[in-house]
Formats: sequence, structure tokens, C-alpha cells
Amino acid sequence: MAESASQKKNVCIVGGGPSGIVSLKRILETSSLTGKIIEQKSDIGGIWNYNRDKKFTASTRNMSGDTVSPDPENTTTMYDDLRTNIPYPLMAFVDHKYQEENMSTYPAQSKVFEYLQSYAKRFNLWPNIQLNTSIVDIRPDNPSAPEGQAGKWIVETHDLKTDTFSTDIYDAVLICAGKHSYPYQSPIEGQETFKGSIFHTKYYKSAQDFKGKQVVLIGFGLSSADLTLQLAETAEKVTVCHKSPFGANFGLVPMNCRETNEVKRITENGVITLDDEVIPCDAIILCTGYAVKYPFLHESCGISVVKEKYIPHLYNMSIFTKRPTLCFVNVCYRSAEFITAEIQARYAISCLEGKTKLPTYEEMEAALKEDEAEKERKDLPLTLWFQVGESFGTEALPHFFKLAEKIGIGEDYKNGPLLTQMYILLVGRLVGHLAVYRQDKVRKINENTWELIMAPSSGKKAERIMLTMNPDNTLTTTKEEIEDETK
Ligand SMILES: Cc1cc2nc3c(=O)[nH]c(=O)nc-3n(C[C@H](O)[C@H](O)[C@H](O)COP(=O)(O)OP(=O)(O)OC[C@H]3O[C@@H](n4cnc5c(N)ncnc54)[C@H](O)[C@@H]3O)c2cc1C
Repeated sequence: MAESASQKKNVCIVGGGPSGIVSLKRILETSSLTGKIIEQKSDIGGIWNYNRDKKFTASTRNMSGDTVSPDPENTTTMYDDLRTNIPYPLMAFVDHKYQEENMSTYPAQSKVFEYLQSYAKRFNLWPNIQLNTSIVDIRPDNPSAPEGQAGKWIVETHDLKTDTFSTDIYDAVLICAGKHSYPYQSPIEGQETFKGSIFHTKYYKSAQDFKGKQVVLIGFGLSSADLTLQLAETAEKVTVCHKSPFGANFGLVPMNCRETNEVKRITENGVITLDDEVIPCDAIILCTGYAVKYPFLHESCGISVVKEKYIPHLYNMSIFTKRPTLCFVNVCYRSAEFITAEIQARYAISCLEGKTKLPTYEEMEAALKEDEAEKERKDLPLTLWFQVGESFGTEALPHFFKLAEKIGIGEDYKNGPLLTQMYILLVGRLVGHLAVYRQDKVRKINENTWELIMAPSSGKKAERIMLTMNPDNTLTTTKEEIEDETK
């Protein structure tokens, strides 16, 4: 039986990015929950809400102390001319598609923002979204309750327009605050002596700022790969210094870009690598990833992030075992995040509704301890502890599709094998085929069949790959060499 509005449990959603809006949509369609997004910026969309000229100043309430970035000028991590690094079919929620017509396989940031806006409009989410409001404090209303016992939450907010604070009580909290706000940096010897400009990727905004410059990027990852392509257009020279576990294999990078060894020291004029190569440069960009921080979680919540990377006690990377009415959405790295965030949100909501029964506190803790011990045994760096598998994210989708099945929503992800294969084939091209991967194309033939055209690279001809879901939920993949159709 449906609950009346006042009987419904009230869920606070921290953040109105993709994870927040899909969580709200899924909450509003339940019969026992209601909820509200609280978003600090003047619009939804998370990092996809980008306008270079529109500055945002976060609440300074949580900006003091050593553990939090002292920089309240919290622009999004986006930059000009960003195009996605994942093809658009892998950046969609299950029941809302992109307009296929004239759609670029790797669309611009503005297209993704439009998609998120159209999602919020279509599912009538706006009445439950509060903008320009920062969550500044969350704490359990009964901090002395035994661990493992669910309870309510006291949430304090800062209205950034009126500069007023208020407090509300919620039955549950979903943390959808993203993981790309706080630059992760460990100081490099000599950094303070450098006479050029040195900054983290978060503050990179346009390749035009580097016309004719020599630039060193420190770190290997999606950001440095993308910046390499952007800077190749304007900079005189781009050098990527890294210790990638994948090996130095950007592949076919433009002529003015190259990769080399990790940086040992920074000097007045440039960097020195581990093998003593001296590289003079005008600018150094630290592509060192992001730190995980939740300055609004009061210490009585019992969350302590290990080395700014790993949050212990999150069952299935989501449910806080000590107080299971606090859940996290999308802390997992390297996946098709729109898809996996939606499944995680639906999982957390199903647990809050009581439809999915959680194991006991002791059982969840034991499972987590076992998982952590395994990661320690494998000597995995903490950066991989919130990743499924150790490769480039290829195991994440199958893992979450299984979770979907377990909570009874597997039917929605019947095309999971097709999406997984699309991820493996296309996202896999980022390593080794960097310069050409955005020339690849996807095209929907019908609900069950997609065509992939892979651009020629490394002496290989172009390829047409057909992915077809069969009635028995298996996938057929066919490949043929073709003349280049990507131009
Ligand atoms: C440069 C870059 C490029 C990327 N490219 C891709 C891509 O091509 N494809 C892809 O799938 N993923 C990409 N990602 C990953 C990105 O994480 C996801 O696309 C997606 O934005 C995650 O959504 P989210 O809602 O979890 O987090 P976010 O988009 O970060 O949204 C979090 C929201 O929470 C709000 N918030 C945080 N703290 C508070 C608070 N205290 N009070 C109120 N509101 C708060 C923030 O203002 C923000 O709006 C990229 C990431 C970066 C950094």
C-alpha cells in the first residue's frame, strides 16, 4: 500500500550532479520514500554544469583546517572544448536516451548538460531540487546508538544567496557529492622554486592559454590524455611524465607530444626525470587526480577517509555499515559512471525501502574485511580500492549488472553484454590509440544492434564491428575490415 506524503521517509540527497538527479528520480517513484536534492551551485548537472565566466564561491564554513582545500573558488573541473571520453550510449540513464540524430559519438560537455536538464524536466524533478544551498554539516541524531543501527540525520545547510543557515532532520542521506572537487597532490621536491606556472588539472581551462609554450604534464590518466590532445593544438611541445602501470603507451600522439619517465625533481626552469633527463618548460600541470573529502560529514558520523582515497565501512561501495541510512552513490572509479551510479542509487534505495535485505552489521563488516585483506595481499594501491577489478574498468559494468539482477531490476539491463562490449572496445582505445579514438563512431541500428566504426590506426585498416543482442540474451560480435568511413 502506498504511504501518504507525511508517512514517507524523507531522504536528503547531497548534490545535483548526474548521481543526484538519478537518485531523486528513483526515490520519487517509490511508494515509501520522498526526497530532495540540495545543490550548492545555481544549476544541476554537477561537473557538466560549466561556464568558464561564471564563478562560484562555495560555502567557506567548511574550508578551514588542514584537511580541506583552503581554496573556496570551487569552479567545476571542466574546461573549454571538453568532449566526453566515453561514447554517449554509455553516458545515459536506463529510461532516457539522447536524441540520436546528428549525435556525435563523443559529444561536447554542453550536450551532456542538455541531456541532464532534459532528464530533470521530463521526470518533473525540479519541485524537489533546492539550488544555491551548500550542505555544511551532517551528523547522526543519536550518535550514541550502537554501531550497525539505522537512525536519522541532522543536516545543516547554508543558503548562499541569503547567507543564512538552517537545520532539518532526514530519515536517510544519499551522498552524491562527486569525486572531482579536491585536487590530490603530494609535493614534488623543488616545486616552490619553479619560475613558470604550476597548477593542478582542476584549474586548467583552455589550451589557448598555452600558445607556443612548452608544457610538462605530470601523471598518466584520463585527464593527462585529454589535455595532451588539447595542448597539441596550441603548445609548442608537450611532455607527459608518468609511471603508468600500463606502460608508456599513449599511442599515435601528435608529433609535438611525447611521453617520458616520472619526475624526480622540479627546478627553476623545468623538471628532471628519474633517469636524469632535464626538460625545460614554461608550465607544469599536475594531473595527479582528486582527493576524496567530505568536509560536511561531522566526525560523529564515524567516516574517516584513508589517505584521501578510500572510505572504509562502505558495503557494496555504498551502504555505510555503521549507520545504514547513510549511503554513497558513485564512489566507484573507472566505469561508465552514469550507468553504474544509477544501479548504485537503485540498490541504496532498495535497501532504504527494505526491499533488499542487508546482511547483519557483523556480516557486512566481515565481508569488507575480507575484501580489504585481499587488496592488501595483492598490494593494490589505495587508488584502486574503489575500482572493480584491476584493469581499465572493464569489470565494473558486469559487476553492477549482477548487482542489478540481485535486487530484481536485471530486466532493465538485458543489453548489459552489449554495453560492456562497447565499453571494452571503445574505451579501451584510449590507451594505445589516443590520437584517433574520437574518430571512432557508434550508430544504433535498432534496439538490439549497434554498429561501431573503428578509425584506422597503427597501420591497421578501419573496422566495422556489429554488436547484436540475441533473444537468449547472448551477444554476437562480428568484425570486418572496411575503407575508412570515419572521415
Ligand atoms: C574532466 C572530467 C571529464 C570527465 N569526463 C567524463 C566522461 O566523458 N564520461 C563520463 O561518464 N564521466 C566523465 N567524468 C566523470 C564524472 O565524474 C561523471 O561524468 C559525473 O559527473 C559524476 O556525477 P556525480 O553526480 O557523481 O558527481 P558530480 O558531477 O561531481 O556532481 C556532484 C555535485 O555535488 C555538488 N556538491 C558537492 N558538495 C556539496 C555540498 N556540500 N552541498 C551541496 N552540493 C554539493 C556539486 O556542486 C556537484 O554539483 C569526467 C570527470 C572529469 C573531472
